[in-house]
Amino acid sequence: MRRRHMVSLTQDKQTLCGHSATEQEFRRMKMFPDRDITCKRCLKLYQAHLEKSEVKIDSNTHLVKARA
Ligand SMILES: [Zn+2]
Repeated sequence: MRRRHMVSLTQDKQTLCGHSATEQEFRRMKMFPDRDITCKRCLKLYQAHLEKSEVKIDSNTHLVKARA
């Protein structure tokens, strides 16, 4: 079975782990639920992205509070 990749968050027609995908594949990938992703590299990168976003949101909140 082919591995299911997650789409890149910044690049068009590319998976999160850096593979290129056709437009059709890319569109299909976007519809996969997170739990269906079987590429470990994609999962790891996605997890890292989530953690980074949380930190970002957190520091933004502190900034707003400091200004208020
Ligand atoms: Zn992948």
